[in-house]
Amino acid sequence: MPHIEGQVPRPEETDQLLFSPGGYSQLWNHMDSIGPVGLWQEEGAPGCPQEGLPCSPDSSELAQECLNQFKVTSTQLRQIQASLLRSMEQALTGQASPAPAVRMLPTYVESTPHGTEQGDFVVLELGATGASLRVLWVTLTGTEGHQIEPRSQEFLIPQEVMLGPGQQLFDFAARCLSEFLDAHPVDRQGLQLGFNFSFPCHQTGLDKSTLISWTKGFRCSGVEGQDVVQLLRDAIERQGACSIDVVAVVNDTVGTMMGCELGTVPCEVGLVVDTGTNACYMEEARHVAVLDEDRGRVCVSIEWGSFGDDGALGSVLTTFDRILDQESLNPGAQRFEKMIGGLYLGELVRQVLAHLAQHGVLFGGCTSRALLSRGGILLEHVAEMEDASAGTARVHAILRDLGLNPGASDTELVRHVCAAVCTRAAQLCAAALAAVLTRLQHSREQQTLQIAVATGGRVFEHHPRFLSVLQETVTLLVPECDVSFIPSVDGGGRGVAMVTAVAARLAAHRRLLEETLAPFRLNREQLAVVQAQMREAMFKGLQGEASSLRMLPTYVRATPDGSERGDFLALDLGGTNFRVLLVHVATEGVQITNQVYSIPECVAQGSGQQGILLNWTKGFNASDCEGQDVVRLLREALERRQAMKLTVVAIVNDTVGTMMSCGYEDPRCEVGLIVGTGTNACYMEELRNVAGVAGDLGHMCINMEWGAFGDDGSLDTLSTCFDASVDQASINPGKQRFEKMISGMYLGEIVRHILLHLTSLGVLFRGQQTQSLQTRDIFKTKFLSEIESDSLALRQVRAILEDLGLPLTSDDTLMVLEVCQAVSQRAAQLCGAGVAAVVEKIRENRGLEELTVSVGVDGTLYKLHPHFSRLVAATVQELAPCCAVTFLQSEDGSGKGAALVTAVACRLAKQAHV
Ligand code: ADP
Repeated sequence: MPHIEGQVPRPEETDQLLFSPGGYSQLWNHMDSIGPVGLWQEEGAPGCPQEGLPCSPDSSELAQECLNQFKVTSTQLRQIQASLLRSMEQALTGQASPAPAVRMLPTYVESTPHGTEQGDFVVLELGATGASLRVLWVTLTGTEGHQIEPRSQEFLIPQEVMLGPGQQLFDFAARCLSEFLDAHPVDRQGLQLGFNFSFPCHQTGLDKSTLISWTKGFRCSGVEGQDVVQLLRDAIERQGACSIDVVAVVNDTVGTMMGCELGTVPCEVGLVVDTGTNACYMEEARHVAVLDEDRGRVCVSIEWGSFGDDGALGSVLTTFDRILDQESLNPGAQRFEKMIGGLYLGELVRQVLAHLAQHGVLFGGCTSRALLSRGGILLEHVAEMEDASAGTARVHAILRDLGLNPGASDTELVRHVCAAVCTRAAQLCAAALAAVLTRLQHSREQQTLQIAVATGGRVFEHHPRFLSVLQETVTLLVPECDVSFIPSVDGGGRGVAMVTAVAARLAAHRRLLEETLAPFRLNREQLAVVQAQMREAMFKGLQGEASSLRMLPTYVRATPDGSERGDFLALDLGGTNFRVLLVHVATEGVQITNQVYSIPECVAQGSGQQGILLNWTKGFNASDCEGQDVVRLLREALERRQAMKLTVVAIVNDTVGTMMSCGYEDPRCEVGLIVGTGTNACYMEELRNVAGVAGDLGHMCINMEWGAFGDDGSLDTLSTCFDASVDQASINPGKQRFEKMISGMYLGEIVRHILLHLTSLGVLFRGQQTQSLQTRDIFKTKFLSEIESDSLALRQVRAILEDLGLPLTSDDTLMVLEVCQAVSQRAAQLCGAGVAAVVEKIRENRGLEELTVSVGVDGTLYKLHPHFSRLVAATVQELAPCCAVTFLQSEDGSGKGAALVTAVACRLAKQAHV
């Protein structure tokens, strides 16, 4: 068509372009002379052709040409899909210029129903049903498939109330509410109310919505620009009869999505085709610029009726669309709605039929008043005439009711016209829905989508073929999406109650989550107490007094000074691997050749023929080792193999090794820390403070074995029931209490126990207990890292939980993330409190105002968790403000360290010799 996109042609232009001057243009010119009435601006007068006007020979061509105008190709549909998607994405980012064609209004509905919602809810509907007000009482049972019919009452709003002062309208509403509650034996205390207010509003919260302008014949003074929820609350209070909490204000599209029956796939799109049309869907909150929220989801009302107002629909507009638009009360606006909404379908059909009649193609060239009057043909007529099963007699009857005199051949053409108009509407609607589905794929970063769309509105109700064309076209446009359509049940009412119920459920679940996690959130005072207790335990341990810290002297008396040289062999027994390293320490630095052997479980838990091991930790449980000198065990093992001649110089624990290996790079490194499978720390203590070792001068590295801190009960006040469960199920109940709150072997288990608890409360996984979550160690500590690295998309969380076979909803992912964060944060803070105790001790030992010190750290949890190291450092800074602490990650941890211990020992021996 030769129109420039975006330009709406004047009727005269249109006529010249497509029709020969004659009947049609006369019709509109004639109508121009009649003033605006009601919804449409003009009306026409009926008429018949001059006697004997022959049916033009090209009448079938003209009919075909009209029908063809309503054909939309799949390319055009794809263009519309892409164009709407662009507009939606532009509006989401808050980009104001050029003005986006759709508004994308957040509705503050954060979740869809779980089916577990229960309770009694009142709904007040204003504006959904014309000049009446409806009150509903909805009981949700919390059990799927079990529904209680809502009770409702409708009140006619007197004309003077619709046009009077706003306070009068809201007082009227409050009185209706009170009357309804009087008539129904219900418990009135603490009632929760959802307010369906179907007028254009600017919503800024679930219960905060400002009326932009009245529509639908309402014109109460003093309401525009006001928060309608507050006006309702005030009126209820003035009424004074009962305590009602207005929880949510909801539009009918959202009500449709929320009110639909719960199926197997989540229903996260609402589609309404009624008088007008609109859709909403669950968007990731972080994509909605106006919200400034980076977590969770929010329902966005697209307001897609205005799509095309910028000209995007130019290629599919027919002459009839242009005329319809020109004649409407809002020319140029709501262009998309005018091709789809029920208010307009009848009108489009009427225009085409009138045009064909005017050209002698239909009804013997006769028109009627109904055919020429706006609103003369209704949606219901169109649906019925199109329905082949209704039979031609029915079509005849309808046309005769419209004052027409159909001939035998007319019914078929009328049917075709109705079908053409409705098919196009359904296809355009499908293109728009396809844009929403593509948007969902984008925002969730998912290739495929399984989703349910709730449908509501009179077009769906009256016109079954609309849905089948919609479905077919959606499949064509987004074949990768598996979409099911669910008709909404009493959309408005149940849906609004559902919004209220979901808000109540979310609030209750949030409270339970907060209560559960509260003991994990340690404040500064609590951490300072841990630090002080650690200091005391260190002191006692060094003195040889009873203490949960053994404070073992390691006989390492110095950290490297860089002058060490030589080749050293080191054996490193870690949590999972046994490594043999050849370490070459030279002027150029340290070179390491190593071979890794994984430790079979039968060896780790078999007999111990391998310092004196005090007790195994980290899942090791080999017999005959505790209390034995492991150096002797190793020497004997080497002799049994008779492989080579080696001198075993030093036994080095991995913590010491870590400190030493970092010390080679940084001489200020005087603390070693491990946070891997287990946790431990060591540091350089003044020899004079170490009771068990002779001599007062110099230093000695003390292996704190701090995993056992708290085994005397000092951590009991911080310990939660989840810690107790993890401890009880461990191979060493009551032992390594500090380690069990911090290290990799246990964090996943703590999280699992919390998840079990939250499931039992119904907060997670819809309360469904699964075998998988009951399985010990199923929730790996590395999941915490993955989940917490992913705080935005939550895709990892979803993938991990789905892998574990957990029946998750979108609310679950966020809560699981919060659980992980609480557990790892506490671990890092406790670890930080320990480090703060150590560095403060070093500072006081040396009588320094300020200490600058480095901590060498190793362990996968510390290194790979996205926040752990930062939180440790922050805690240390908070609790030991006079110490400037640098954390160094050891690169070839304990093996290199062991070699360096040996190297330093050799260096010291040489020095002593000299
Ligand atoms: P070890 O302490 O046994 O010598 P590591 O320092 O490698 O060895 O720690 C291994 C432990 O780290 C595992 O038991 C596991 O709990 C934890 N872990 C493994 N991967 C990760 C990860 N990506 N994030 C956090 N912790 C992890």
